[in-house]
Amino acid sequence: MLDQARIDTLAAQDVRPGAHIIDGERRGASDGGEMDVISPLNGKVLTTIPRGTRVDAERAIASARRAFEDGRWAELPPAARKRTLLKWADLIEANALELAVLGVRDNGTEIGMAFKAEPLSAVATIRYYAEAIDKLYGEIAPTDPSVLALVHRAPVGVVGAIVPWNFPLMIGAWKVAPALAAGNSVVLKPAETASLTLLRIAELALEAGIPPGVFNVVTGEGAVVGEAMGLSMDVDVLVFTGSGPVGRRLLEYSAKSNLKRVYLELGGKSPNIVFADAPDLTEAVKVSANGIFRNAGQVCVAGSRLLVERAIHDEFVSKLAEFVKTMSVGNPLDLSTSAGAVNSLRQLDQNLRFVDEARSAGRVVIGGARILEETGGYFMEPTIVTGVDPSDPIAQNEVFGPVVAVIPFDSEGEAVRIANGTDYGLAAAVWTRDLSRAHRMIRAIRAGVVHVNTYGGPDVTVPIGGVKQSGNGHDKSLHAFDKYLDLKTAWIKL
Ligand code: NAD
Repeated sequence: MLDQARIDTLAAQDVRPGAHIIDGERRGASDGGEMDVISPLNGKVLTTIPRGTRVDAERAIASARRAFEDGRWAELPPAARKRTLLKWADLIEANALELAVLGVRDNGTEIGMAFKAEPLSAVATIRYYAEAIDKLYGEIAPTDPSVLALVHRAPVGVVGAIVPWNFPLMIGAWKVAPALAAGNSVVLKPAETASLTLLRIAELALEAGIPPGVFNVVTGEGAVVGEAMGLSMDVDVLVFTGSGPVGRRLLEYSAKSNLKRVYLELGGKSPNIVFADAPDLTEAVKVSANGIFRNAGQVCVAGSRLLVERAIHDEFVSKLAEFVKTMSVGNPLDLSTSAGAVNSLRQLDQNLRFVDEARSAGRVVIGGARILEETGGYFMEPTIVTGVDPSDPIAQNEVFGPVVAVIPFDSEGEAVRIANGTDYGLAAAVWTRDLSRAHRMIRAIRAGVVHVNTYGGPDVTVPIGGVKQSGNGHDKSLHAFDKYLDLKTAWIKL
């Protein structure tokens, strides 16, 4: 059980300045100086982190390369890497509340969600890949008996990981855990506005016994540190979660450098489709609201397009508006808060710009404004926009805020056409009692995950990844290893 008094005590503590973790050491700012970490809870400076330079990034990459080449980690027996990773997971678990509170002060996610989705999810992910790595086998190919053909799985080398500000620990662990379990070295760049918890777990990694240079974290701007990683000739694989425009840049960096493989997890405009025969409308309303408004809508799989069958459209929208009135938006460190802060002023402004256009057409049913401005924090009301045409900007573009666009439909075929009518393909949901329809929809919708009569919740055992412009490759599940292990054939004449 989370304890409010303990959370308040932790939240009152000063946060020491962050430092890169390079070659097993904490390193403060070099020529780039420091950057302020602004808390979205009050708009005040929480602490500083180094504004990493190209040289810092290159130093981290060189240390990862050295660590990989001398085999200090890659050549350990998988069971030894497993033991160390399990120790790391234990240390993160022991520090889970501290990490959760630190993360909330840094990025604004409500504490109840952050505790589970951040440190505890990272712990589960690290344990999953640690436990898996000494159970992966190579192959013997069914060749002519005059040869023996072995298919080895070898670590790729140096992995660069660039992650966003929503759920840094969860998304970071999805990349770092399988990469390290497989024997690679990693250089990770957190988002400018969510670096602190990743720096802290990198310190815990050293404490657990992950050798120096194997896991490095360099903070700073994407256009400097991220670009240096993208253009490096010494990064073998780049894994990324973030926006489409930055994803495109990473592909360019790869083409301009060593053709490193680039795996992208990008945004979404996920359709949440409610048929009139949904099993329980009250449940559908509650889950749909949480599926878009929790974490102030800053969830890549958020159900930001709500498609409702016309027969129940008005009833559903009015129930949704009633539910929204029961949600408490505000201080994310308060356990009773159901939706926390928007991560940055820039993101808040972007959210409001999207809503303004809908407001001028009189389509905002509830919400649409910045609130609690007197706190200095970045808070926004959950917002419902109705009468949306599938081609409207608010139905086509990822807002990445607490804004849902409601679109009516009349038939299953129309629902599928609307659902598939964006450049994205990350997640979807279907609410229906009809099993056959549910399966037809799962087949027809182009998305990485289709929920049925629920929204969200898939754990580390299943892959997550997008189709179309939502990305390529998958995080989570055993399939994630494919990004971090090369296949190598040994063809042996007998
Ligand atoms: P962003 O693309 O702006 O930044 C992501 C990371 O890329 C940050 O670390 C940033 O510093 C870095 N970066 C920025 N410019 C760069 C450059 N030129 N070269 C290299 N790196 C650079 O995204 P964000 O605003 O932090 O996160 C929100 C986005 O992430 C949303 O679009 C959201 O949908 C997406 N997202 C996707 C998933 C998924 O799994 N598909 C999960 C979470 C978030």
